[in-house]
Amino acid sequence: MRCGASDFDDPTPLIYGGTLALYINEDCINCGACEPECPTNSITEGEEIYIIDAATCIECEGHFDVPRCKEVCPVECIFKVE
Ligand code: SF4
Ligand code: SF4
Repeated sequence: MRCGASDFDDPTPLIYGGTLALYINEDCINCGACEPECPTNSITEGEEIYIIDAATCIECEGHFDVPRCKEVCPVECIFKVE
């Protein structure tokens, strides 16, 4: 359910098809703080900015109360995939 293209205009946070994931936007300063904090090793250094693998990110469920990467990021450039 809720996987139609029109849902992307919906401002309400949604989980599409059971996907739990966060993403890093272009404000990333490549500090590397998030990478070692990820319990599923989903964060790697990309060509320009760090990247979260949406296939393995579990939003830290079962590990931390809140997404750990988002918590440690100094520039708040990590957001939930909606
Ligand atoms: S939310 Fe948790 S599991 Fe997902 S990338 Fe961040 S630290 Fe890793
Ligand atoms: S903590 Fe934030 S700024 Fe640092 S590498 Fe990760 S996403 Fe980029």
